[in-house]
Amino acid sequence: MRIPRRSFLAAGPALSLAAVDPGRVAGASPPAGASSFDPWVEVNPVHLRHNVAEIRRLAGGRPILAVIKNNGYGLGVVNVARVLETDGAVWGFAVVKLHEAMTLRDAGISKPILLMGPASEAELDDVTRREIMPMVYTGVGPVLDRLASRLQRAIPLQICVDTGIGRVGIPYRDAAPLVRDLAGRKSVRIAGIMTTLTEDVEFDREQLRRFSALCDDLQREGVGVGRRHAASSYGLFRNAGAFLDMVRPGMAIYGVYPEQEFRGKTLNLRPAVGLKARVIYVKRLAPGDSAGYNRAYVAKQDVWVATIPVGHADGLPRSAAQGGRVRIGGRLYPLIAAVSASHSIAEIGADRTVDVGDEVTYFDAQDGSRPEDLGAACRTSVYDLTMHLNPLMPRVVLQD
Ligand SMILES: *Cc1c(COP(=O)(O)O)cnc(C)c1O
Repeated sequence: MRIPRRSFLAAGPALSLAAVDPGRVAGASPPAGASSFDPWVEVNPVHLRHNVAEIRRLAGGRPILAVIKNNGYGLGVVNVARVLETDGAVWGFAVVKLHEAMTLRDAGISKPILLMGPASEAELDDVTRREIMPMVYTGVGPVLDRLASRLQRAIPLQICVDTGIGRVGIPYRDAAPLVRDLAGRKSVRIAGIMTTLTEDVEFDREQLRRFSALCDDLQREGVGVGRRHAASSYGLFRNAGAFLDMVRPGMAIYGVYPEQEFRGKTLNLRPAVGLKARVIYVKRLAPGDSAGYNRAYVAKQDVWVATIPVGHADGLPRSAAQGGRVRIGGRLYPLIAAVSASHSIAEIGADRTVDVGDEVTYFDAQDGSRPEDLGAACRTSVYDLTMHLNPLMPRVVLQD
């Protein structure tokens, strides 16, 4: 979608609220009457599907459990699920927050949804009724017996094993008895077993040995463990041995290389997420004039600067003013002074080459500036860049 500045100025607000996805995170109502200057997030469905096809190719046709936690890494959890719901390469979706799992079902998503986050017994009741698959790692067998008898069917679940991340998951040494216990219950169907790698190349191999030994031993006993999975995006690039029965990437789906050194390698990823806004003010500073709190920037000569309504409350890291650049009218301009809550400032130079209403790209879901560029320029993780995008910002899904 391209909205030329002229038509924007002539036609008034460029973003109709109809373009704003109604099914964003639960609790986030559309910003009534959002200004057309305000920042918005663009989502490119063609690139999402392209990235999934690339991942499938690399993973040798294995199914993909698409991780869409944290508001779909900023793109909008429902936006991503709707695009990938009909993609045959995607087996299902994984989220961490219960409300996101519920939001997906409310939006009519019917593929498997794995809830990787916590749920109380009462919440598990809702979870299983909505056919959301819990990730379990404690002795929940008796609870599942009760829920299954109410539902009159077995409850599919995934077992999480801690092979070294030390976060959630049953420690691998203690895992076999839990798996046997769950496998022995009529109330349970073990759909899969998973572990999270620490993304330390050496130690990942040890983790996989622990995981495989556990699964192989259980299978030899006749205990079915379902699909085994371990590979995040990092695993896709670094560890073909982790592909197992299913891959479990997040960031790669959004077309963003998780590390600078992976760029252009292994997978041809196209960025599916963009952050844009419009210039709200252009002014000339004379030598000695300043910009930003604490006079973070002082002009050395006559210079034009542009104010853009994107700040750290929108998710732009404060460090973006130290090295980050934005694209306006095809040219890159450095961000200067400081990122405040709702504003950033670009240094335009000696000539007034930008206007109020010009579109500003922080990163682009089409071609041009990638999130990795902004991340590298201001030494910020790309995970922070996309996942911290304020969920209240309008999301615009580009046309296929
Ligand atoms: C977030 C997450 C992933 C995906 O990680 P990426 O680095 O975004 O590919 C996979 N597995 C688990 C358990 C996660 O929490």
